[in-house]
Amino acid sequence: MNMTCNMTKDLLDLYIEKNLSTDSLTAVEEHLQSCPDCMALFENKRNQAPKKPQIKFEVNGIDDVIIDKNLKLLSKRLKTRKIINIISGVFMALLTVSACLYGLIKKYED
Ligand SMILES: [Zn+2]
Repeated sequence: MNMTCNMTKDLLDLYIEKNLSTDSLTAVEEHLQSCPDCMALFENKRNQAPKKPQIKFEVNGIDDVIIDKNLKLLSKRLKTRKIINIISGVFMALLTVSACLYGLIKKYED
């Protein structure tokens, strides 16, 4: 099938989206190979075509709230962990001191 430039241009969007039948796809491909003008247009359009959905790093309103909540929860957990660490540290220290004292007392008793 002999494609004209106008036909190719009409099909170019569908070609980029791969929404063409095999016949049309081949026809467009063949025309692109032989026509630098259409090839340039194709390259241009392809670069402008929306790329596959990417992971959005932009934070919109809703996500912002969720992140904020999670951060608060996390910092709360970290605080709790810190308190537990301090308490267990104090407890271990007390245990060590009382063990030492016990040892000393035993020594004096003997
Ligand atoms: Zn052409």
